[in-house]
Amino acid sequence: MARSYVREARRRVGPRRERIGSVVERLRAEHPDAGIALRFGSDVELLVSVMLSAQTTDVNVNRVTAKLFRTYRRPEDYLAVPQEELERDIYATGFFRQKAKAIRGTMTMLIEEYEGKVPRRIEELVRLPGVARKTANVVAAELGEPQGIVVDTHVRRLSQRLGFTRHDDPVKIERDLQRLVPRPDWRIFPHLLIWHGRRVCIARSPRCEDCVLTDLCPASRL
Ligand code: SF4
Repeated sequence: MARSYVREARRRVGPRRERIGSVVERLRAEHPDAGIALRFGSDVELLVSVMLSAQTTDVNVNRVTAKLFRTYRRPEDYLAVPQEELERDIYATGFFRQKAKAIRGTMTMLIEEYEGKVPRRIEELVRLPGVARKTANVVAAELGEPQGIVVDTHVRRLSQRLGFTRHDDPVKIERDLQRLVPRPDWRIFPHLLIWHGRRVCIARSPRCEDCVLTDLCPASRL
């Protein structure tokens, strides 16, 4: 019964390839302000912000970096102070010991191998200490060279509800999305889903009655 209901819902909205263009277009119109919420003024600041954002909110990171980036500007600045001082300066973002260690390791590698610059390729970014694929994806996309699609909890939930993936594993979801989403939209796509997930397609109780995607969504309650 449940399975036939899902099949019927999928039939109603049509194949995902035929829906993806309209979904992106409508979400762009609905959330013109969608984008990275972290504040940064350079490539290094972007990288540090994304590293600090693990397990905390962007608002919290922005609060900490507003002060941090006044004193730490170049990779060398993160190594010019004892680790304990950096830990204190990023304390409010949580997991401050691991984060300080990862940032210092990353800055060392930037200086030694990349002339103090942030590399653009995912394969290079994931070599930096404490930089996982998700961080690398975010950084590469914001630097103008998206090579993947960021999958966080909102992207996973909405991709499943919209019938873009049947997987639960972020790596498999990303693979499905890469096959589906046109490459020029790879940077903006996760932001659109994140914004929509926070404002409308909320985890516990999606507000389908206020959603611009109801006729394109197999999970619509309407
Ligand atoms: S129709 Fe409902 S379930 Fe589908 S995307 Fe919109 S809010 Fe989410």
